Amino acid sequence: MSSGEFALQAKGLKKTYKAMGPSPAKEALKGIDLAVPRGSIFGLLGPNGAGKSTFINILAGMVMKSGGTAEIWGFDIDANPRQARASIGIVPQELSIDPFFTPGEIMELQAGMYGVPKSQRRTLEILTAMGLDDKLDAYARTLSGGMRRRLLVAKALVHNPPVLVLDEPTAGVDIELRRQLWDYVVELNRAGVTIVLTTHYLEEAEELCDTIAIIDQGEVRAYETTQNLLAQIDNKTMLVRAAAPLAGTLKLDGLDAKITADGRLAVTYNPGVMAAGAVIEKLQAAGIEIADLDTRGAELENVFLKLTGEH
Ligand code: ADP
Ligand code: MG
Repeated sequence: MSSGEFALQAKGLKKTYKAMGPSPAKEALKGIDLAVPRGSIFGLLGPNGAGKSTFINILAGMVMKSGGTAEIWGFDIDANPRQARASIGIVPQELSIDPFFTPGEIMELQAGMYGVPKSQRRTLEILTAMGLDDKLDAYARTLSGGMRRRLLVAKALVHNPPVLVLDEPTAGVDIELRRQLWDYVVELNRAGVTIVLTTHYLEEAEELCDTIAIIDQGEVRAYETTQNLLAQIDNKTMLVRAAAPLAGTLKLDGLDAKITADGRLAVTYNPGVMAAGAVIEKLQAAGIEIADLDTRGAELENVFLKLTGEH
């Protein structure tokens, strides 16, 4: 595939933050190779400190890389910085908004910064899509956290970039807003925008993304279609409270079962191999009467364990 077929492409991307005062130097990216296919919804997963924001901030031109190359929509960030910058919209992790401007003014300022001609500006259209049209003239300081997040998304879209990157967009965002944000992201993707989002919630990536990369400690640990990744790691845990106290020894052939600290039975199973109903049947066959039942998806921590055998 020629690099022009990727929305983003990094080769050997490195970043070492210099030592400052008592903090030693930190190698945040140790040579990242990553390609984001055009048209995808791409998930960049990793625990806190993995290097996700560093990666994105290099693309945004906010952090200087220490080595390697990066292309945005086929434009090298060193050789063609202007075109590279024009091809990407970034919603940063921090909710940084100038409190003394209105959303309308913030959008116009941003459009001016990207050289979008007045006749081509879509301030009201974008704010409406983000459910902020009634806030056009409100002071930004009066906006709730959720509204600020949506305003940052709106701001990232002023220059109509083919790639939209959202860095931890749902951190601290309530469920309803999360839904709204995802619906809009999916809509944008259908309209042709490549979406990259970072998250440390596997379920979020699982729901939205067609391709997932996992980074940890500045290195790529996995790069797969979501389907392939889940086939490897899609373990679920069923937490069962039994009607009667559980016996010390349990015979549950083919199931990985443990008794938890709070006295529940934790059964780990792979839904691709065995349906939840079959797990319940096995429990009943073993004479366990189920009083209460809860299931949990794979935790990213467990995913790392599986993929890396570390931690
Ligand atoms: P993530 O977004 O995955 O949580 P970051 O890219 O923010 O990870 O951070 C990666 C590593 O680099 C962490 O160890 C973090 O402490 C360090 N780091 C991030 N930004 C800076 C900075 N400006 N100066 C020094 N170290 C930094
Ligand atoms: Mg981050």
